[in-house]
Formats: sequence, C-alpha cells, structure tokens
Amino acid sequence: MQTIDEALDKLKASKFRTGFALKEKDKVYIRENGIDTIRRHAQDFVRERLAPAFIPNAGKQTPMHGYPVFLAQHACACCCRGCLNKWYHVPQSIELNERQQQKIVNLLMAWIERQMQGK
Ligand SMILES: [Zn+2]
Repeated sequence: MQTIDEALDKLKASKFRTGFALKEKDKVYIRENGIDTIRRHAQDFVRERLAPAFIPNAGKQTPMHGYPVFLAQHACACCCRGCLNKWYHVPQSIELNERQQQKIVNLLMAWIERQMQGK
C-alpha cells in the first residue's frame, strides 16, 4: 500500500494534476477558517459526493475551482470515482467504507498543508 508521500510524488508526474494549486485567496481563507474546518468540509464532500455507490452527477461532482478542497480533490485525483479507480484502483459502484474515506481526506489535507507551506 502506498504512503501519502508516495501518492503525492506520483501525482507530480501528471501535468494535469500539478496544474491545480491554491491561490493566495484560498490560503487566506484556510488561515481565517482554520485547518480543522477545512478538514471537516473535506470529510463532508468525500462522504456525500464520493462515497455513495451511485452518484447522480458522477464525473462532474467536483467543480474545477471555487473552494480549496475542490482544488485538492482534482490535484489528488480524488475528484470522482473514475479518477479514484484509475489512480488508486478503488472499485466503482461500491460504497466507500470509513477507512477509505479517511485515507482520501488525509491525502487531500496533506496536499493542502504542503501548498500552505509553499511546497
Ligand atoms: Zn475525476
């Protein structure tokens, strides 16, 4: 099983994925609201938009901009079940369990923290 660092390094090989970055206004938003709030939002998005076996707007459930967690989801290939399947071999059409959801949230938050540190 790959670690968060290994996953993030692998994503660096993708021009599309590395095209996503937090803008200054996103960083300000995160600092003002606190990282715990962002993590809670990430948990909500993953639970409501990625975890269900069936998602009505599958493939389009994650906007390309507008919120730091959305950017993280695209940067980490955790934007839809198709990308999760392609990058992490997560089977589609089966509900994600708590552990899988937590792993995704941890990856998203690691990406966000790296961005906040300018890495
Ligand atoms: Zn996707």
